[in-house]
Amino acid sequence: MKRYKGLITKNINMVHNHKEYMREYNKRKREEYKAYWQTPKGKRTKRISEWKRSYKLKGDLGMIYDKFINTEKCEICDRILTDDKRATSTRKSMDHNHTTGYFRWICCHRCNTQMGHSERKFMKVIHQIKDS
Ligand SMILES: [Zn+2]
Repeated sequence: MKRYKGLITKNINMVHNHKEYMREYNKRKREEYKAYWQTPKGKRTKRISEWKRSYKLKGDLGMIYDKFINTEKCEICDRILTDDKRATSTRKSMDHNHTTGYFRWICCHRCNTQMGHSERKFMKVIHQIKDS
């Protein structure tokens, strides 16, 4: 009986130690993971997967990203681009063709939204021509 008790205590301790270990391990991993997204490589991966997921962007996304990072002026209006979190008019944007999914320009947020408007207007005209 005493022997069993000893075994059980030993097992409980092992489970407990393992839990402690896993808690520490997970905490460390979480921190590593968080830190990774702050590195240039992490930011690159994050941005590219965002482009793939939300824009269904096609082509060499690594190349487009490098261009995105190295472009300092809007390719349409020549204004200096900023790296703002919120949507300011000078924020750096990546313009793409919504129909084909291919990248077009690195431009400011203002040019990007204006292009979106004219694109929609253009499509509306095309539809009207088709319908008439
Ligand atoms: Zn612009």
